[in-house]
Amino acid sequence: MKKILVFGEINLEDNKIEQVTFELISKAKKLVFEANNLKKDEQYFVEVVFVASYLVDDEIKKAYKAGADKVVLIKDSAFDVFYSTVYADAFLEYFEKNPAEVILFPATIKGRAIAPRVTVQLDTGLVADCTEAEFIVKNDKLYFAPTRPTFGSELMATILSKKVPYCATIRSGVFKAEFVYCDNGEFFEYTPISYHEDRIKLVRSIDDKEKNVVDFSNAKVVLCGGYGLYANKSDEYYKKLKKIAKITDSHFAVTRKVVDFNLAEAKYQIGQTGSTTEAKLYVAFGVSGAIQHIQGMKNSKTIVGVNIDENAEIFKYCDYKIVADAKKVIDDLLAYFDIKQ
Ligand SMILES: Cc1cc2nc3c(=O)[nH]c(=O)nc-3n(C[C@H](O)[C@H](O)[C@H](O)COP(=O)(O)OP(=O)(O)OC[C@H]3O[C@@H](n4cnc5c(N)ncnc54)[C@H](O)[C@@H]3O)c2cc1C
Repeated sequence: MKKILVFGEINLEDNKIEQVTFELISKAKKLVFEANNLKKDEQYFVEVVFVASYLVDDEIKKAYKAGADKVVLIKDSAFDVFYSTVYADAFLEYFEKNPAEVILFPATIKGRAIAPRVTVQLDTGLVADCTEAEFIVKNDKLYFAPTRPTFGSELMATILSKKVPYCATIRSGVFKAEFVYCDNGEFFEYTPISYHEDRIKLVRSIDDKEKNVVDFSNAKVVLCGGYGLYANKSDEYYKKLKKIAKITDSHFAVTRKVVDFNLAEAKYQIGQTGSTTEAKLYVAFGVSGAIQHIQGMKNSKTIVGVNIDENAEIFKYCDYKIVADAKKVIDDLLAYFDIKQ
């Protein structure tokens, strides 16, 4: 049988599997169904591989539930600290004995450090930051066909690699984790024989608070301010929106143009070069709906757009369309919440 391998990522602080891993597993499962349908003589399955010192049982069950047929733990106490070359070496040792047709890496800091190290050793290509992936049949051969934005994100390119394994990185929030499969499968523990010492030594770890980053992965409501809120040569309306976000327990966000004009910090940016969100409710105030922004919020459940231009691109992605002056809407909201302006 052939397999789609997901490079799994664990949060080293609580040993829980990162959400993006579940997202990749569920996508891999769908790809498996697709491949098995297209080519009945080549049956695929999903394997998720973790490089770690241990894995919690409940987390393994969650991986099966998300669609993994097999969970592999490449185990050593040395993996308690993330060293990219050590992880890559251990993974490569396992992979050489247990090859796969496709490898999906999370496009996280760790995944982005591992993926090129692995693919260069395997002498194959890597398609980075994919936003879609499918299997296609060409000349009776099954190809993994990932798609990613290109030319300043004006075009989407589907890239077919000439070599196997087909490798891709995928950002968090692009695909949905679906815990709809059964909660058992095959488990395999692998002890690596040798891996090189890393030339880098960890001196100090910095947590998210210290790094000053915003975590949008679990955001329920996101209030995003676009350049349409710019007024009186000041950041007044971004501050007002931030206030509303605070009292409604929502996440404040902005577009890249707002960041480029120094009206808000880059950590709030949503989009292709910012964060991704799958919020339950996403409200875009004065956002035009450029494709690079859409990439970061299109999987939100309910999308509301407030724009003065009734033909604004953002409305194509909205469940609710409000043609109005977003500044007025924000002032009205502030008045509603009875905040002193
Ligand atoms: C490689 C690359 C990567 C990029 N990555 C990102 C990214 O990660 N995230 C991102 O956001 N962008 C990204 N961009 C930039 C993107 O192309 C757009 O330029 C940007 O998203 C536009 O921001 P905006 O919608 O706030 O501004 P604009 O495009 O200027 O739109 C402002 C909107 O506000 C409306 N408006 C004006 N006044 C009002 C008012 N009073 N009330 C209501 N509506 C009003 C206008 O009708 C307009 O639709 C990237 C670009 C490139 C080339």
